[in-house]
Amino acid sequence: MGWICKLLGHRWEGCRCARCGATRNEGHRWVEAEGRCEHTCEVCGAVETVPCEWHHCRCKRCGAQRDSHHLWLVKSPCEKVCRICGQEKETHDWRHVDRGLDRCAVCGETHRLTPEEIARRDEEWATTDEYTEGFDDVPDYPPETD
Ligand SMILES: [Zn+2]
Ligand SMILES: [Zn+2]
Ligand SMILES: [Zn+2]
Ligand SMILES: [Zn+2]
Ligand SMILES: [Zn+2]
Repeated sequence: MGWICKLLGHRWEGCRCARCGATRNEGHRWVEAEGRCEHTCEVCGAVETVPCEWHHCRCKRCGAQRDSHHLWLVKSPCEKVCRICGQEKETHDWRHVDRGLDRCAVCGETHRLTPEEIARRDEEWATTDEYTEGFDDVPDYPPETD
């Protein structure tokens, strides 16, 4: 610190003292970085991150990805794919049809359970005191296509 600044205080021009060159953390002159979500002060070189500019699930600027706000494109009643990042999501409404076999109530697709899944389900059902979903309430399945 120069002696004048000691006597009179700094002469701030933005974040830097025009007399002695001391810097402070305010009055920065920010310049946006290209392709990154941060900006740099062209006077003192300080770097600060800025919030991402989200376009659905991806940042327009830095390309960061988040697992929310996807732009879903519906492929089938139970399948959708994100137009931005390509993530796929299945929302089958699996219903139990037979031991080890589920069928989707919406699209009719079947799903064979692995031995582990069967064992886990047997265990779950054995420990449930009351099984409230009556089989009589299960709606008719679409006719078999094969
Ligand atoms: Zn100064
Ligand atoms: Zn600065
Ligand atoms: Zn970003
Ligand atoms: Zn996405
Ligand atoms: Zn389905």
